[in-house]
Amino acid sequence: MARKCTASINLSAIKENYLYAKSLAPSSKAIAIIKADAYGHGAIKVAKELNEVADAYGVACIEEAIELISSGIDKIPILLLEGVFEKSELILVEKHSLIVTVCNSVQLQWLLDAHLNRPIDVFVKYDSGMGRLGFQDDSFTHAINLLEKSNNIGEITLMTHFSSADDLGSTLTTKQISNFDNTLYTEKYPGSLANSAAILKWSESHREYVRPGIMLYGSSPFSEKTPLKKLTPAMTLSSLLISIKSFKAGQSIGYGCRYICKKNTLIGVVAIGYADGYPRSAIDGTPVFINGVKSKIAGRVSMDMITIDLTGVPNPQIGDRVELFGENVSVDEVAKYCNTISYEILSKITRRVYKAYI
Ligand SMILES: *Cc1c(COP(=O)(O)O)cnc(C)c1O
Repeated sequence: MARKCTASINLSAIKENYLYAKSLAPSSKAIAIIKADAYGHGAIKVAKELNEVADAYGVACIEEAIELISSGIDKIPILLLEGVFEKSELILVEKHSLIVTVCNSVQLQWLLDAHLNRPIDVFVKYDSGMGRLGFQDDSFTHAINLLEKSNNIGEITLMTHFSSADDLGSTLTTKQISNFDNTLYTEKYPGSLANSAAILKWSESHREYVRPGIMLYGSSPFSEKTPLKKLTPAMTLSSLLISIKSFKAGQSIGYGCRYICKKNTLIGVVAIGYADGYPRSAIDGTPVFINGVKSKIAGRVSMDMITIDLTGVPNPQIGDRVELFGENVSVDEVAKYCNTISYEILSKITRRVYKAYI
């Protein structure tokens, strides 16, 4: 690897964060959410790291499940968070004992009609206020009635998802919990409500299963600054300085001349750009970390490069490593400057970035 644009991934941090999630919900099983290639961290590596401790894995689709199974991860249950997208998948679901979410009447019918040799475990999704997937009130009851009667169905678990658990001031989470509890079946069947935000801050939502995602990767789900103990960032994204030049006051930097030097300025070029997944939406002032200090993006992010202001950076040299986020600059802070969330940045790191596992 000549171009040293690297995401170093600390797998033991992910394990620590998983165990922390479990310690917050000690009576729950924790489904480690490793969809979207474990939010960009590498699903196979993460699953192998968690193999000794994980209760289950959650992925978005059967392709993600098969990827895990093909690499030997076949002892721990895998939940398809959106269920199946076509009926033919049920053959593989049965073969690999996957757990499927049932979100709508079409998926329900596929399950009821399937010719199976053994029953499939299901998570039945209830729309308690998210307004996305899941059955609404009467159709939820109806779906459960049908599933209960079917020989195709093994264990039934009830699932719902929060729309605003990351907003500690919102009343909707409490409302969603009571909507969920008001369905007729929450006494009878195990439940699963909590995502990372709810694991961290809405303990009344902890039921038989919790579903930690972003917190496994050491990032906060909260939009506002919320004090959190113990989350360790798992990914450090960095690359090298490949140019250092001084510019005079008034000179412009990069595409569209977005950054104009206010004084004589030393500008560095770093070998990372939006084709590596570093957001093009990063504004001037977005922090980076170099030689022990924070510095700032100056000028528009290009496909393969960014430009940074080296003012105040001790002894910058070509070849110095620049951290875009990780241990010294949090991905959450970078996400704010990019008007997005850490989830998007992490899951969009592209394959050109070399992944180093530590
Ligand atoms: C992605 C996902 C999660 C994890 O959410 P985080 O906010 O990353 O913890 C939980 N449940 C479902 C259904 C999901 O799709």
